Amino acid sequence: MSAMSFLDNRFSLPGFAALCGAGVLFLTTAMPARADDALRAGVASCDITPTKPVTLSGYGSRKGLSQGVHDPLSARVVAFEQGGKRLVLVSTDLIGFYSGTAEVVRKAILDECRLEPSELFLCGIHTHSAPTLALAGSEAHANNIEYTEWLKRRLVAVVRDGLGRATRARIGFGSGASPVGINRRQAVVDKAGKQQIRLGRNPDTLTDREVQVLKVVRAENGDSAAILFAYATHSTSLGGKNLIISGDVHGLAEQFVERHLGGGVVAPAFAGASGNVDPWCRVLPEFKTANGWIPEPVLLGTLLGEEVVDVSSGIQKLDANGPVRTAMKTVDLPRKTLDEAQKKAASILSPFNLTVGRVGDVAFVGLGGEVFNEIGKAIKTASPFPHTIVITHCNGAGGYVPTKQSYDDGGYEVKTSPYLPTAAEQLTQEAVRLLQTLK
Ligand SMILES: [Zn+2]
Repeated sequence: MSAMSFLDNRFSLPGFAALCGAGVLFLTTAMPARADDALRAGVASCDITPTKPVTLSGYGSRKGLSQGVHDPLSARVVAFEQGGKRLVLVSTDLIGFYSGTAEVVRKAILDECRLEPSELFLCGIHTHSAPTLALAGSEAHANNIEYTEWLKRRLVAVVRDGLGRATRARIGFGSGASPVGINRRQAVVDKAGKQQIRLGRNPDTLTDREVQVLKVVRAENGDSAAILFAYATHSTSLGGKNLIISGDVHGLAEQFVERHLGGGVVAPAFAGASGNVDPWCRVLPEFKTANGWIPEPVLLGTLLGEEVVDVSSGIQKLDANGPVRTAMKTVDLPRKTLDEAQKKAASILSPFNLTVGRVGDVAFVGLGGEVFNEIGKAIKTASPFPHTIVITHCNGAGGYVPTKQSYDDGGYEVKTSPYLPTAAEQLTQEAVRLLQTLK
């Protein structure tokens, strides 16, 4: 049996008009935040798998429309509320919000749910096996434009759903490690004897392999409502020839955690600082299991998911204290002068947004681009909070921020970054400074 028979079944599921959880029950847009001091959290999720063939995002050389679904895509929401303030984390099984889509989708959610701009963390797990998002009037495929419009409505509904379900909650933080991601800047010597950096596997450079886990528990019965996790790797094990829709490493880890723990727990994933981190391996062509599941993303997602489950089961200390606070700014990072080709490539990027928040002792740093692993580690280390969860591809798509040192070696990320070598240090400092305003 080929992969396609599994995929064909998937296409018989409800389409673009499918209901978004219980979102339709909350038709009013007015949801004033409560003013008392109890910490509340609401959790929701919904399917966002396209039902029509679409172009997939992440590889310029990949042409053609998707040919089915390996594993479904979802959006997952955890909405915190305390003392009249909110912090809403939205994880989507998408590459991120390029081509101006972050602004448009964020505005729709902010308007409908009456959130402050800094209260929304709209994020993508950076799977390269999900639809290219595109707005009307762009040159994108009509199915992608239709999908993006539908997605926007669905994300509004699922955020409204999460906010509407908020009940008293307690949270706990845990930390583990996973070998799933590896530094991808492999040094090779070309025919002329010159060293080049290519996208490969570089086990000599240590990466921050922390698996950060936030457990959200319902105060009334102690049940887990959400297990949120962040881990630094690209979700790209399916590679640049893949035309099958998948959440890849992060998406499969989310599904593993949700199925393993059961009880309706929602497990939103976030991509940590993974600009120079790839999954340990990519697909070997033609090696597929009989039931249609491709082994590499399933293996890597399971490995990551098992660590999330293990860490979450060890979290004992739960806290019901706030405060909930947020702040946001657009960071003016120093920019290169781009040639025409670079300008075209950079046309899908947005200004670099930095969003920070805290729920009690746990801080969140949302970076609107893809930053090198070392930058995420530096922000965690310098943060004034005991626990700082670093999330990339959040509230915009500002492109690569490599470390200063990596500019000497070159390579793909350095070449395509719109920024100068000093951007990394500035971004780290701005993130820490903004975190300090939350104290
Ligand atoms: Zn990337």
